[in-house]
Amino acid sequence: MRKVVAGNWKMHHGPDAAAGFLSRFRPRGVSETVELILFPPDLSLRAVRKAARVPVGLGVQNIHWEESGALTGEVSAEMAREAGASFALVGHSERRHLFGETDDQVGRKVRAAVRAGLVPVVCVGELLKERRAGWLADVLRRQISAFAGALEGVTAFMVAYEPVWAIGTGETATPEDASEAHAIVRETLGARTPAAILYGGSVNPGNAAELMSAPGVDGVLVGGASLDPGVFAGIAEAAAG
Ligand code: PEP
Repeated sequence: MRKVVAGNWKMHHGPDAAAGFLSRFRPRGVSETVELILFPPDLSLRAVRKAARVPVGLGVQNIHWEESGALTGEVSAEMAREAGASFALVGHSERRHLFGETDDQVGRKVRAAVRAGLVPVVCVGELLKERRAGWLADVLRRQISAFAGALEGVTAFMVAYEPVWAIGTGETATPEDASEAHAIVRETLGARTPAAILYGGSVNPGNAAELMSAPGVDGVLVGGASLDPGVFAGIAEAAAG
């Protein structure tokens, strides 16, 4: 199975910077062994699509669950699809914790992504205080049960395990931590089989290979280290082995 290397640009790289990134993004020897996905800001989707020199899947970082409506500032899954996206990140920890997105809303967004033919990449993960309290499994089960119903019979979906304490902090889960959490995710999903379970949280070219060789880790979701074409290429090459 090909490893997945996905980059979440968050609110970085407008159209010009996105085109510049793609012109310099030339990972070597990854086309057969690595599935690359980028989640640029919506306004840069077109620039990424036009400038990509290697096959890269395109995704959006957020969607609304309605198809259209008087919802200023929101973008629907159908619009994302029309703009060229194939993937939608749902429930990223910044959406949950900075914008107050609830488990219920995550479930609705997953349903909307499936409705529009997008592959949802659903993020789950515990806060540091929840980990310290021994609630890892409870948190993951609660988050997953809120969207599992939307995935009956769906195989085109991914889950990203992203411990909140490891996102943008330079702290990384150990490969053992990642394997433990991924096993809980897989068990909770039961008969619903994801295309991949990704690990995310301060992944860089130095730790990517070890994390991706951990049992149950099918790839990585990368934030900060996906912003530089050389660094992100280093992670892709690490995934290629
Ligand atoms: C993320 O935003 O999904 C993420 C994992 O960020 P970082 O790699 O910067 O920790």
